[in-house]
Amino acid sequence: MTASGGSSEGEADVPAEITCIDCGGRCGLLSVPEPDWGFQPGDVVAYRCADCGDRWDLIVPDTESAG
Ligand SMILES: [Zn+2]
Repeated sequence: MTASGGSSEGEADVPAEITCIDCGGRCGLLSVPEPDWGFQPGDVVAYRCADCGDRWDLIVPDTESAG
């Protein structure tokens, strides 16, 4: 069995874009990942909505899936 994707251990998956909770518009990622190790679980990433200009801060989830 092989897991789809196959990202290196410790690297979290952060979407480049999310949907605005207020207006449903598209929020682009403001934060830039570390070039060497990318985003880590627990990091705070910021998004800015292109439609209403709201900013959203999300915490990178822990990707470790234990069962
Ligand atoms: Zn919005």
